[in-house]
Amino acid sequence: MGRIITNEHFGIPRELSRGELLRRLKSGDVNSCLMFSYLGLDEDLDEVIASDKKVLAELGVTYDTVAKSIEELFLSDSDNYNGNPVIRREFIHSPVCPWDDYCSVSPFNLSSKVTEIVLVNGEKLEEAITFMEERGDDGLRCFPELVRRDLGMIFSDIHPHLIRDHYFFEGHQTPYRVDPRRTVRYLNLGTE
Ligand SMILES: [Zn+2]
Repeated sequence: MGRIITNEHFGIPRELSRGELLRRLKSGDVNSCLMFSYLGLDEDLDEVIASDKKVLAELGVTYDTVAKSIEELFLSDSDNYNGNPVIRREFIHSPVCPWDDYCSVSPFNLSSKVTEIVLVNGEKLEEAITFMEERGDDGLRCFPELVRRDLGMIFSDIHPHLIRDHYFFEGHQTPYRVDPRRTVRYLNLGTE
């Protein structure tokens, strides 16, 4: 059975300054488990959010629909999702939301659990397999090229929260971006 994602964050909620938020979004040390920032140094948070909002309207899907579809992906225990092979990556930690209000894994929970899913593009399967065989098991390091070539998407257990509560799909420079158009295509949204 797949994993139900819930907010295990605890601590004192506090209002972050805009500067502190941007520093967290743009630095790699938001969470030591992540080597990619949420937003490129030259990207504007408001512009990224506004342009994704337009795309959602064009696609006719809501933030909640996209967030729910990622939760369903995590809940699934199938090796193939909408024709796309599923690679589950297990860690003991999970990203803490840069807004400081969410983490899907309690710091006291040190069991290994699926916190990331790589969905391989079933329409480019041969190319994706060749790419992964060539790269071997170099984990995160292959993500930028994997995503740039549209051979796969990387979904994190923080994504539903970022989308639903902050209207944020991540910046264009990180392989962790859950680009709305791609997400709709990979997860086959709006056609069921
Ligand atoms: Zn948050």
